Amino acid sequence: MQKGAENIEFTEITPQADIAADRHGARAKCLQRLVRMDLPLPRTVALSFDAVRRIAQGTLPDVAALMSVFGAAPLVSVRPSSENQDWGGPASILNIGMNDSRHAALCSTHGETAANALYLRFIQAYAVHVARLDPDMFEPEAPSRDALRAALDAYAEETDDPFPQDPGRQLLEVLRSMARAWEGTTARLLRQAKGAPAEAGLGMLVQAMVLGVGPGESGSGVIQFVDSVTGQRRIVGRYLSQSQGRDAISAREGALFLTRDPRGAALEDRCPDLVARLRRYGDTCRLNLREEMRIDFTIEAGRLWVLDALRVPRSARGAVRMAVMLADEGIIPREEALCRIEPRAVSELLHSQVDPTGPRHVIAHGIAASPGAATGRLVFGSAAAQASAARGEPCILVRRETTPEDIRGMHAAAGVMTERGGMTSHAAVIARGLGVPCVVGISDMRLNRRDGVLITAGGHKLHEGDIVTLDGTSGQVLLGPVKMLEPALDDAFQALMGWAEEACDIGVRANADTPADAQMARRFGADGIGLCRTEHMFFEADRLTVMHEMIFADRAQDRASVLARLLPMQRADFKRLFEIMQGLPVCIRLFDPPLHEFLPQSREGVRDLAEALGMPVSDVQRRVQALSEFNPMLGMRGVRLGITIPEIYDMQARAIFEATIEASRQGDPVVPEIMIPLVSAMREVELVKTRIDSLAAAVRTERGVDFDYRLGVMVETPRAALRAGDIVQHAAFLSFGTNDLTQMTYGLSRDDAGRFMGSYVKQGVFAEDPFHILDAEGVGELLRIGAERGREARPGVTLSICGEHGGNAESIAFCRAAGFDYVSCSPFRVPVARLAAAQLALGEQVHADRGGADEQPLALRS
Ligand code: PEP
Ligand code: MG
Repeated sequence: MQKGAENIEFTEITPQADIAADRHGARAKCLQRLVRMDLPLPRTVALSFDAVRRIAQGTLPDVAALMSVFGAAPLVSVRPSSENQDWGGPASILNIGMNDSRHAALCSTHGETAANALYLRFIQAYAVHVARLDPDMFEPEAPSRDALRAALDAYAEETDDPFPQDPGRQLLEVLRSMARAWEGTTARLLRQAKGAPAEAGLGMLVQAMVLGVGPGESGSGVIQFVDSVTGQRRIVGRYLSQSQGRDAISAREGALFLTRDPRGAALEDRCPDLVARLRRYGDTCRLNLREEMRIDFTIEAGRLWVLDALRVPRSARGAVRMAVMLADEGIIPREEALCRIEPRAVSELLHSQVDPTGPRHVIAHGIAASPGAATGRLVFGSAAAQASAARGEPCILVRRETTPEDIRGMHAAAGVMTERGGMTSHAAVIARGLGVPCVVGISDMRLNRRDGVLITAGGHKLHEGDIVTLDGTSGQVLLGPVKMLEPALDDAFQALMGWAEEACDIGVRANADTPADAQMARRFGADGIGLCRTEHMFFEADRLTVMHEMIFADRAQDRASVLARLLPMQRADFKRLFEIMQGLPVCIRLFDPPLHEFLPQSREGVRDLAEALGMPVSDVQRRVQALSEFNPMLGMRGVRLGITIPEIYDMQARAIFEATIEASRQGDPVVPEIMIPLVSAMREVELVKTRIDSLAAAVRTERGVDFDYRLGVMVETPRAALRAGDIVQHAAFLSFGTNDLTQMTYGLSRDDAGRFMGSYVKQGVFAEDPFHILDAEGVGELLRIGAERGREARPGVTLSICGEHGGNAESIAFCRAAGFDYVSCSPFRVPVARLAAAQLALGEQVHADRGGADEQPLALRS
């Protein structure tokens, strides 16, 4: 039925009515489906996005015509209906049409308590949402005649007008205020943050009220058939009976039934038919809407009505189980189950999380650098972290910023927080690799190590030993312990990941430096190791001393003898990696950081080192000074070190080749990939390649065993990207290191960006932190140029990205479009990347199947 009133059209929801989610909203479409399934819905009328937009702009709907759909003196509700339930909308308003005379009539038909409750609820909602009065003045109260009088008086006093009595005017004002609320800036920003387009529309539904009062069983409630947190099948809900009080609805030992309220018989005992029908409706909704739904119902004088059905709200783990169960039961295809899960939500399953339903006392904020949450005692140094771990006490390590010296402390800590730093600073990269929650760039706290106190902007003074909870998912620091949700790597998660692997058409490797990382990479289904940062292997206590000796060796022969001691250690490392990754590629990056990173900065550390090496403190100090640089990240590191002190790369290449021979003895032949970091010129590659080739030849001859290997280049300087055509002549693969490439393209220190990044993003200088989300325009342009020039000069060259961006959906989309072979990210991000890649592949498949006619992702087509 279409009626026109000042050109504002409305459509009654019937099985045949022309209702569409992209014109009337998802709720309107859902209600039409419920009607088609023969669920007992009260009469409902839908207003389209266009109608609501025009109401917001001032066009008046013909409310008399609208009201007349519902018969004489109706009571109605108005509910919002946006295209996607998750985008939210203004609050629903019930009992429109209540006024003094209706109240008097209801007092005689339904009793005063029921009449007071209905009228009071409407006045409160109208005052707060329509007249925009202070909510504190209209706090929900027990529905007495006095409370009603007080609410009416408060309304009149605040607005200088009595509470409107004309139902038409009430409806008009409700429609107008809801339409305007949707157009407001705050509402727009909120929904845009949830992924809604700027111009997203709002539909509205006007529905006849079913009061849930009257003789016989009367009341209202909600019921759902799965648990929102776990996703397991069980009945959950609540029901408020007019005569019996509140029934809790739950399941016991898997059986579906409604629990008995201590104050009376359970609804199931009182009205078994109604409860059986609710269950049936639940099944019908699930099968037909192909989704777990929460049903909003009312019972009026023994008659059951369904008012609404909404997607069950769900945690990340709940969402995974629900999708997998629906697919397992053949209700939705697996592809659709995959597309229903937000890739970011998967990372929540891999780590402990702060329970979102519990209270939080936030004392500081920073950049959420590594997801998950941990509670522990504060420690302000790595030695204290190790001591705490030795006592079996979880601790949160606080540093101004971390350096390689802190690695052991980070290993020992349950969480890491730093005052400085950004998404690719040392603490962030290492913590993500370890899977440890981490918050960096917490500029609203000051660590005063001398006085042993951490001071927050809010004036909290925390000392070592105080307990905090670090939430690396939200970037918050919370006071004290909080309720946690444990990781959920259950069967549903494993099933989903298996399906993602099948659908995925780009490789996903892991950045893994140690055997523990490699094991994690395998566990999460990585296609290999895309980046092994070998320097991390030198930070083990026994190796650091040898490394120091190497740095302090003045003559080449002294250096050679120290490196000979490091050789078996590295060989064992690589052999272990090859064994764990059996059959999968392992890409080992040669030594990258500046040597001074291995030297102590503090006077104490220098003294300890002098003692360990048996040298005068002054000699150690001189060496530290000699190695220090103004811009170490742009100084003597990467291939520059490899060319100036070639013995280090020689030792590493030999260790790789010898480990290759040993690991190949037990299993498939290993073909190691060796990667040269920080290249900017072809000649660098030529020099290193010549030495590595001759070392390979030497090892082959010494051992009498043949083996293959692949030599590649890490493209992480802008010049390497621009000159990829020359460089690739000596490289079987190019792997883009987007951390350094972003740093150098922007001229922005990855370790210091945290200080101002928040303010830059807030002011719109950068749309996002470029160390977090790949800058597709600038850095991306270099990636495209590098890939094109590399591929042109060497067709078939393997292309990949191994910076921290590798795990993000946006970068994966970029890499797929640019024809890259794989992305590589920290092991804990492999499942996230895998799911994102699978969704992109499935989305493209759907697009191709439809001849490119439909841009809508699979998830929205249900
Ligand atoms: C990079 O620069 O992107 C990279 C992966 O190397 P690192 O973070 O070790 O400098
Ligand atoms: Mg780098």
